Amino acid sequence: MIVLDDRLCALRARSAEWAADLRAIALDLDRDPDLIRRHLNLPVIEHIGLFQYPRRFHPRPLVVDGHRFHGDSALEHVVCFEELAAGDIGALIAAPGAPMAGPLVALLGDDDQQEAFFGRLLAEHTWTFLALTEPGGGSATDRLATTIEDLTLSGAKRYIGNATRSGIGVVFARSGPGPLGIRAVLVHGDDPGFSATALPTVGLRAALLSQVDLRGVPLDRSRLLGEHMSAARRGTWSWVRVFNRIRPAVAAMALGIARAAYDYVRTNRHALSPAERDRLAALGVRIDGVRQLVWRSAVAVDADPADGHLASAAKACATSLAEDAAAAALGFFGAGARLDHPLLDKLARDARGTEFMEGTGNVQKLAVYHHLARRRRDHG
Ligand SMILES: Cc1cc2nc3c(=O)[nH]c(=O)nc-3n(C[C@H](O)[C@H](O)[C@H](O)COP(=O)(O)OP(=O)(O)OC[C@H]3O[C@@H](n4cnc5c(N)ncnc54)[C@H](O)[C@@H]3O)c2cc1C
Repeated sequence: MIVLDDRLCALRARSAEWAADLRAIALDLDRDPDLIRRHLNLPVIEHIGLFQYPRRFHPRPLVVDGHRFHGDSALEHVVCFEELAAGDIGALIAAPGAPMAGPLVALLGDDDQQEAFFGRLLAEHTWTFLALTEPGGGSATDRLATTIEDLTLSGAKRYIGNATRSGIGVVFARSGPGPLGIRAVLVHGDDPGFSATALPTVGLRAALLSQVDLRGVPLDRSRLLGEHMSAARRGTWSWVRVFNRIRPAVAAMALGIARAAYDYVRTNRHALSPAERDRLAALGVRIDGVRQLVWRSAVAVDADPADGHLASAAKACATSLAEDAAAAALGFFGAGARLDHPLLDKLARDARGTEFMEGTGNVQKLAVYHHLARRRRDHG
């Protein structure tokens, strides 16, 4: 069993304090995602923005009880993100910063690209996006239809978080056949030919999921990430490592939703029947178990970013837990609970959204299966 040390306990406690600020704006942001602009000076929003920047672009680490945090370990992320998402996952995702594009640019960008990208983020509040999924082929890279031809980017992306308000982002596109022909490129929100339109969504509304259209966006070589690397290194080899490191944080956010639902029942339903007490206790035990898995998955990717099977297991377990916990919590308040308890209604809608972030449960289970099959083959 993993037990947090004093340092991580301090981070957890600080994150729990910040979560209250996110909870206070949760329902407003759900109604109007743009309201995040009024809350950019909240300490929590400023620090979320800085988490995941490489150290050399980190002007001041977070200091809690004398402990310093640069946000560059997956374990720090999961400890912090569970608490923040228990406050509100919507506000967490709506904050400016580079939770997904940042790690890719840190890994694939040359010095100039990193200066330009992180320098811009440090200079002003900037949202970023990472665009892989497409209207026709989903997130399957072998069906990627967005192309780079003669340094011109053309295609469409869908379900891209924060794209309508982003100053800069990373787009995956094909510049040639096969897996080595897939490139990640930097695109600016004001590039000619770039447009983003918010999609109507039910869950995670604050994330402003968008359709992105790329109609002949002109590029120059400075936009191509990984030019200084071998074709093998700048492709799947890199992204797998980046996505493996992001996935425990997505699992932690789903866990945070489950926790919020559980805490809501404990705070707002008194005089439980013995059967209800048992149901709630069982949910609490399940939450504690999934938390251990999420922490273990973070420890595993910190040790080896190529080892993402526990991250997949954690993500699949945490998202189904979030959906079950939100539905169970609604059950404690009877008919009309969704109308009478808007926060629980929101938790149920958001929980469903986490199922699709960073790959669905089926796809995560397949990843775990492939890992086990490979290990069996290798070790007999
Ligand atoms: C809240 C949210 C935020 C998002 N943010 C972004 C973003 O910022 N950038 C971005 O690029 N994308 C983003 N997406 C898109 C998301 O990453 C994809 O929609 C998700 O990974 C699912 O991929 P897909 O659409 O290709 O569906 P598929 O992977 O094709 O899955 C479709 C269905 O088929 C099932 N399925 C697929 N393969 C198998 C199989 N082999 N066996 C059994 N069942 C299978 C899946 O479980 C699912 O039910 C976001 C989506 C959501 C909902």
